[in-house]
Amino acid sequence: MEQPIAVTRQSFDDWMIPVYAPADFILVRGEGSQVWDQQGKSYIDFAGGIAVNALGHAHPQVLAALVEQAGKLWHLGNGYTNEPVLRLAKQLIDATFADKVFFCNSGAEANEAALKLARKYALDSGNREKNQIVAFNNAFHGRTLFTVSAGGQPKYSQDFAPLPGGITHTPFNDLGAAAQVINDRTCAVIVEPIQGEGGVVPAQAQFLQGLRELCDRHGALLIFDEVQTGVGRTGSLYAYMNYGVVPDVLTTAKALGGGFPIGAMITTDKLAKTLGVGTHGTTYGGNPLAAAVAGVVFSLINTSEVLDGVKQRLEWFIAGLTEINLQYPIFSEIRGAGLLIGCALNPEYAGRAKQITQLANEEGVIALIAGPDVVRFTPSLIIPEQDVKEGLARFARAVARICS
Ligand SMILES: *Cc1c(COP(=O)(O)O)cnc(C)c1O
Repeated sequence: MEQPIAVTRQSFDDWMIPVYAPADFILVRGEGSQVWDQQGKSYIDFAGGIAVNALGHAHPQVLAALVEQAGKLWHLGNGYTNEPVLRLAKQLIDATFADKVFFCNSGAEANEAALKLARKYALDSGNREKNQIVAFNNAFHGRTLFTVSAGGQPKYSQDFAPLPGGITHTPFNDLGAAAQVINDRTCAVIVEPIQGEGGVVPAQAQFLQGLRELCDRHGALLIFDEVQTGVGRTGSLYAYMNYGVVPDVLTTAKALGGGFPIGAMITTDKLAKTLGVGTHGTTYGGNPLAAAVAGVVFSLINTSEVLDGVKQRLEWFIAGLTEINLQYPIFSEIRGAGLLIGCALNPEYAGRAKQITQLANEEGVIALIAGPDVVRFTPSLIIPEQDVKEGLARFARAVARICS
């Protein structure tokens, strides 16, 4: 056999379109919540592939499902349905408010489908004027042109103008401001129950309840973007279950495939009728390989053992992070829910989240940022206590270096 092409971190700069600035090492293997780089150095993984690898790396049952399905059938195209996708649909329906499911391959695509559904539902109801979408400042909904325009960080969209119109942004957690912009021309309100990329900022319960009431009053659809908060991340299967506010449409991706790309939009029977044959679609959506993997991931996570375990693990993190913060007062707030944890930096350390994660890498732990001022942890939902302790000990060494 031919030798594989030799690759180093420099190869990234040589060959890749530079939309990312990855770490200066290359990871080659993972098991549970540990990963190893080309040089054999080990890291504790507190990022989980950005809230994706919810059962860690190489989980034996997930791996077995992948291998089994890989030997049977990978892809058919949507002219033919398949068993794994139908089973996964039923799992999602049984576990949530939804009656119907549309599958795609990413969070952005799930949100794209949700926004298109809302526009068409309003149009089909006979109101040509009802096409306005309300979204929130600092929100993140993906990188397609429609979803990046719905997102609330103009720096990600403005260079791609002209942008899709009819989208209004208003401050998150400000119900009064939302009431000013939601009206009878609004077809949808899209919101993250916890803003993830925007800094790990939970919605207040009254805010989501108020949005539900405003949507009901004005006949607008309430879309919950649970791409990051879904599939057990917050200690409930979906975050809406914590809030007791039921959306009309919910989008889910990231953890759904445990690392295999898949996304879904779920909704009610009534709304699902909007997207009749030929109105929307995607080649890979609902392919049997992704669906088989997601089916196992979903059933492993949707147990009281794993969901209660998330709450237990949050306590381990809070205890460890509080201790670090007592020694080196670097955080002004530790917030989030379950294993979506945001550590907001004190003003003194503003803008240094990235530098902290780089030092963390040097100490052997993988962490994320959520904007320049927040360090974010989204580890595996089943990370062992020993890995939490060891990872936090390594993280403490990184913090000590920043603070000295
Ligand atoms: C990651 C994310 C998305 C985008 O998902 P992709 O799979 O990257 O397209 C959308 N919404 C939220 C809340 C996210 O966290």
